[in-house]
Amino acid sequence: MTPWDGGIQQLKRDALFRELTLRTPGPRFSDGDRLVTNFATNDYLGLTQDDRVKAAALEAIRRFGTGSASSRLLGGHFAVHEELESVLAEWKGTEKALVFSSGYAANVGVLTALTGPDDGIFSDALNHASIIDGCRLSRATVQVYPHGDIDYLASLLAKTPLKGRRFIVSDGVFSMDGDIAPLRQLIELVERFDAWLVVDDAHGHGVVGRFGRGVVDALDIHHERVVQVGTLSKALASQGGFITGSRALIDWIVNSARSFIFSTGLAPAAAAAAMKAVEIIRTEPSRQTRLQQYITQVLTALGRPLPRVSTPIIPLLVGTADRALHVAGALWEEGVWAPAIRPPTVPVGTSRIRISLSAAHQPAEIETLVEVLKRLGMGGTSVDGITG
Ligand code: PMP
Repeated sequence: MTPWDGGIQQLKRDALFRELTLRTPGPRFSDGDRLVTNFATNDYLGLTQDDRVKAAALEAIRRFGTGSASSRLLGGHFAVHEELESVLAEWKGTEKALVFSSGYAANVGVLTALTGPDDGIFSDALNHASIIDGCRLSRATVQVYPHGDIDYLASLLAKTPLKGRRFIVSDGVFSMDGDIAPLRQLIELVERFDAWLVVDDAHGHGVVGRFGRGVVDALDIHHERVVQVGTLSKALASQGGFITGSRALIDWIVNSARSFIFSTGLAPAAAAAAMKAVEIIRTEPSRQTRLQQYITQVLTALGRPLPRVSTPIIPLLVGTADRALHVAGALWEEGVWAPAIRPPTVPVGTSRIRISLSAAHQPAEIETLVEVLKRLGMGGTSVDGITG
């Protein structure tokens, strides 16, 4: 008997226990003598398997070695970091950029560095866990507003007494729903309440906006009070996180974000791979175009409206955790790997299948996906035809 046995048994009873399952990378993999299509990754453009991205990582290992070996502020700041940061800043059209060892560390770092006990953070209820943890560590007053509810947020901003500054924080693309934040309305609130906006566009970069610049660009927002966070780990095919903004902002973060200061610099291979991925994203828009075609095809087949900015994350709402596992199992039998997403990743009662499309999928695989979803009675925004 260990102290954790009770908790483990409870998770199993609630269909919330998770196990690591060995997978092979890429948009499809073998399971015995059949091929399963992988709709579970965030490799939206398929660049993790691109030979040029791999070659860039290998070359960085040759030049710099396998690790940065210390904090960037000590001995771990190499030319490859500086080059990546100037590429990111130029791509995003900001003065400066700063990379972290993960998107998680970037969100925690930015929120804790920018806010303190006098300040207020106003956070969307469906924001990513790394934002939630950044809020918790910040010691600011944290107010959570219902997902996308601008009126509620405005009332919170108006009635929360604060000595310091107000920060609104939101995912750009919501990771489990695929919808985008109402950034234009959020900017109006920034102006009305003299606030700041932090946007975590982990799932938008590389996928939406001109040259894959993300959701802030897709909505044509240019505002000096916007701090953008991103990850190198999804469409950018690598590992790491980043923020973009003014020189002063970055100087402040370098001096105060503990997840930056007290963590080893990003591995050189990861930095070089991301840099090559950004170059490909900027110069070869065909992947974004193909991905958008797939998104349109699947949304249309499911009878869903086409939003102004559509993303490759397509949720099928199921309800309970065990039903989600059952539906994922049924899809698996049909050669479709689309995982069940359960609490605490999503709120209780909103377990779902998360389908994530990639430009690396073949047209025939998208057709099969659509055919399987229809055959299993999955359409609209929820799953109605399958009994669990
Ligand atoms: N923000 C969002 C919205 C995410 O979905 C994720 C990853 N799931 C992160 C941040 C964290 O990024 P990383 O994986 O690079 O730590």
